[in-house]
Amino acid sequence: MTQYVIIGDGISGSSAAETLREEDPDAKITVITDEGETLYNRILIKEHAKGKLPEAPISIHDEEWYAERDIDLSLNTYVTSVDTDEKIVNTHESGEIPYDKLLVATGGTPTQLPVDNSDADGVHHFWTFQDARGIREHAERADKGVIVGAGLLGIDFAAVCGAQGIEADYLMRGDRWWRYALSADGAEIMHDGMRSVGVEPVFDSGVDRFEVDDDGHVTGAVDPNGERYDCDFAGVAIGLSFNTEFLRGAGIEQDNGIVVDEYMQTNVDDIYAAGDLTRFYDVLLGEQAQNGSWGSAKEQGRVAAVNMAADEEAEGFQWVSSYSITHFDFPFLSFGHPTLGDEYAERRYSDTEWRRVAFKDGKIVGGVLIGDLSPQSKFKRLMREQRVVADQADVLLEQSVDLDELAPSQEQ
Ligand SMILES: Cc1cc2nc3c(=O)[nH]c(=O)nc-3n(C[C@H](O)[C@H](O)[C@H](O)COP(=O)(O)OP(=O)(O)OC[C@H]3O[C@@H](n4cnc5c(N)ncnc54)[C@H](O)[C@@H]3O)c2cc1C
Repeated sequence: MTQYVIIGDGISGSSAAETLREEDPDAKITVITDEGETLYNRILIKEHAKGKLPEAPISIHDEEWYAERDIDLSLNTYVTSVDTDEKIVNTHESGEIPYDKLLVATGGTPTQLPVDNSDADGVHHFWTFQDARGIREHAERADKGVIVGAGLLGIDFAAVCGAQGIEADYLMRGDRWWRYALSADGAEIMHDGMRSVGVEPVFDSGVDRFEVDDDGHVTGAVDPNGERYDCDFAGVAIGLSFNTEFLRGAGIEQDNGIVVDEYMQTNVDDIYAAGDLTRFYDVLLGEQAQNGSWGSAKEQGRVAAVNMAADEEAEGFQWVSSYSITHFDFPFLSFGHPTLGDEYAERRYSDTEWRRVAFKDGKIVGGVLIGDLSPQSKFKRLMREQRVVADQADVLLEQSVDLDELAPSQEQ
């Protein structure tokens, strides 16, 4: 009987456990997580922090779900090391867990700002349900906020402040929000969205230090220009540090994430990885890449499990990732790898509508849609078909995209 061990009960680990049980009904399957609760919807915890959603609908699995599938679940259990010679996982308390095949699905932890008082009371990071509970509880009684981190997670803090009536300054390093993926035109729409919920974007700023009162509670943030911003609530979302410290000495190749091929296999036999922390071979892009999204993590967990159970390279991961934001009056969607293009085409259609497509070697590799998301499935189709279309960007930027207008000769 094969023994599978999965470290992490996020969506990638949990989806792998479910698939492994389907693929290998007799196997022993163990899932280990350092969290105190079973799988929940990490995407929805922001709605809880905003005060808009109670706890119950956010939970996905209860403990019975694991029992029904004969999956051993260890909650509150932190993996400290992996012995790849003896094929043993060590945990902080329950000792050694042997494995035949191992999946590392441990995701990341929000990076702290390397500045004074960044761990002060009232300075929040956002990753777990526990974080969301703390943010909600504090946000309900806070008045003035500061947000740092001009990316997809930072904007969730802006939405929390907006929904909880906290007047906030959003301190950004460059001249716009998510400057790697958006031009000034696109970003301006997002800035208007922030202002509409009471959050003021501040450019060429950031945080040099937080200030605290005698009780250690945050009272302000000082930016590199010496400007001081009052706050009794701060949200920091400057990126993730991947949870791989327990792999030290295990010989698993890492490059700001665990390096895997398209089968989710690491360079060490019988060890696989899935989810946010992988640097996987993206067959559509033709190079190693990273995704930080729910759908991608779920699919990577499934693909890893299929390959673990098959004991061979049975199925490759091929997926166009997407990430949407619904905090404002207009929708926002990022798909694929919007920052990895070597060429870009974009157009603004109105005060709340903008589109940008990223191309590499003439093929679409990602993009951002604001206001009108309707072209997304067409763009994703062109990505999967790997069609060379950069020289026909005018067709892709038509308000209503008609793929029949693309020259057939451009198909590969
Ligand atoms: C606030 C917020 C909003 C988001 N919004 C969106 C969105 O709108 N759309 C979208 O697509 N994505 C969104 N995401 C991202 C999405 O949630 C992640 O991409 C996805 O959850 C990653 O899943 P994962 O399984 O790779 O990792 P995780 O969900 O991080 O799971 C990893 C698990 O491993 C555990 N672990 C770590 N180290 C150890 C150890 N040593 N021992 C035991 N257990 C360990 C962790 O505690 C965690 O439970 C959001 C994320 C957050 C935090």
